[in-house]
Amino acid sequence: KSPLNSPPKCSIKQTKTNPSINSPKNPVFDPHTIDSELVQKLVHDALVWSSLHGLVVGDRNVKRSGLVPGVGMVHAPIALLPNSFPEVQWNQACELAPIFNELVDQVSLDATFLQDTLSRTKKVDAFTSRLLDIHSRMLQIGKKEDIRLGLHRSDYMLDEKTNLLLQIELNTISCSFPGLSCLVSELHRTLLSHYRKPLGLESQKVPINTSASKFAEVLGKAWTEYNNPSAVVMVVVQPGERNMYDQHWLTATLKERYPFLLYFIDIRLIVIRSNRGVFGLLKSNPELINTHNVTCIRKTLAEIEAQGKILSDGTFQVDGEAVAVIYFRAGYTPTDYPSESEWKARLLMEESAAIKCPSISYHLTGTKKVQQELAKPNVLERFLENKDDVAKLRKCFAGLWSLDDLDAVKNAIHQPEGYVMKPQREGGGNNIYGDDVKETLLRLQKEGSEEEAAYILMQRIFPTVFPTVLVRDGICYKEHAVSELGIFSAYLRNKETVISNEQCGYLMRTKVSSSNEGGVAAGFAVLDSLYLT
Ligand code: ADP
Ligand code: MG
Ligand code: MG
Repeated sequence: KSPLNSPPKCSIKQTKTNPSINSPKNPVFDPHTIDSELVQKLVHDALVWSSLHGLVVGDRNVKRSGLVPGVGMVHAPIALLPNSFPEVQWNQACELAPIFNELVDQVSLDATFLQDTLSRTKKVDAFTSRLLDIHSRMLQIGKKEDIRLGLHRSDYMLDEKTNLLLQIELNTISCSFPGLSCLVSELHRTLLSHYRKPLGLESQKVPINTSASKFAEVLGKAWTEYNNPSAVVMVVVQPGERNMYDQHWLTATLKERYPFLLYFIDIRLIVIRSNRGVFGLLKSNPELINTHNVTCIRKTLAEIEAQGKILSDGTFQVDGEAVAVIYFRAGYTPTDYPSESEWKARLLMEESAAIKCPSISYHLTGTKKVQQELAKPNVLERFLENKDDVAKLRKCFAGLWSLDDLDAVKNAIHQPEGYVMKPQREGGGNNIYGDDVKETLLRLQKEGSEEEAAYILMQRIFPTVFPTVLVRDGICYKEHAVSELGIFSAYLRNKETVISNEQCGYLMRTKVSSSNEGGVAAGFAVLDSLYLT
């Protein structure tokens, strides 16, 4: 029986934790101390709110949920209340966003750097090799991208010992949750304000999160730059995508033709809070009346191969429609390319005049090997002139090593728990931790194979463990967890003119502290927001 059937109660599961590992250091607010009646109420309200506001994902238990919208939906896995996070490091992460955007753009233009950096990886990693082949082909035909669009997410963890904000990785393709994460922030603000007295928390300390509207806005601006009013935005999707509502939030915003409809609820909330009246509010927040009226289509790579062609003027046409912007929410992992058809589609798109988000160069710039190369001394300086910017970026770099660094490998074998081994993959679940690091390194050494070039080594970051309440499938769990903060950012330029370069909201992901990986879609983590301290 579902916990949401009457009476509206949620079952609370308390996981046994090892206090020696999980000793939270003075959490500002301990949700484990909330009495269970209040927890029931909060969970109930959170689940109703999620259903009413589209904070939903396709339910794995329903077969058609990934294929037919509106079938088999379940609330997104969430943390019941926001996680405290220091304001200083929050500001730091926001400040880094435009600098990383600029860096990605500059690196993407240096074809030699990309090819050289990935040359050894290419030999042993078939997936990276195929991407590089497309990149080489574009060099051969002299393809230039005048209009460049990046919708990135830079992920960080706060290292407990040093209190440093350290970057986990920079995602340049298919960044997930810009559509849903802003809803989690709004949900948390709503709960905090409804339950202000018993919780004693201030809703304004959850930063406003504009991820969906900002990403839609910049996609809309890119569409405008393309300058063909009848062209569409095409979202490249995985067949059977269960996180489709996250994507639909962006395209629904882009399609919106009339102001107020989509924002009605948010506007009401802001108006009530701001006391400025609707017109004053709209004047100072022009994005609230900005509508895009852009048609969006969704296609899988296989469909694009079957229905896509390039016209003589370079226009990319799919199923009879000209495509202005291609927004990838697929194509980042080898399983997205089960046959040659999908690779043909990727090449065709790259050859076309459509704006690619990301282009093949932006995609390669987001690989872990490039991240490791950029962390070497004097490499950032090749791409950024401003010394302060270079210093700010370097400050958030964790230890990163190539496997041809014999000292690093020796240290990692000696102390594997201090390292993470990463292949050139995205989407979670691919890294190697703990004793497996040692075993893998020893095996590679013994075999003397070139396979080592497929990996990088990274310093393992240990964030503070804190008590939290997670809600998944209508069941809440009292857990000890760690968090990873993602900052969304958008970059759009047309030749020499930078049209957008900004922070676009955030994603907080919280995972049970005993889990190594942190993917929400992969089932390791939940969506969260932050409470500034
Ligand atoms: P992916 O591109 O697959 O998301 P990540 O580099 O983000 O790869 O790694 C996946 C997850 O592994 C992260 O979300 C994080 O939870 C964990 N992780 C990655 N690097 C580190 C690290 N250096 N220290 C601790 N945890 C890490
Ligand atoms: Mg990634
Ligand atoms: Mg990641």
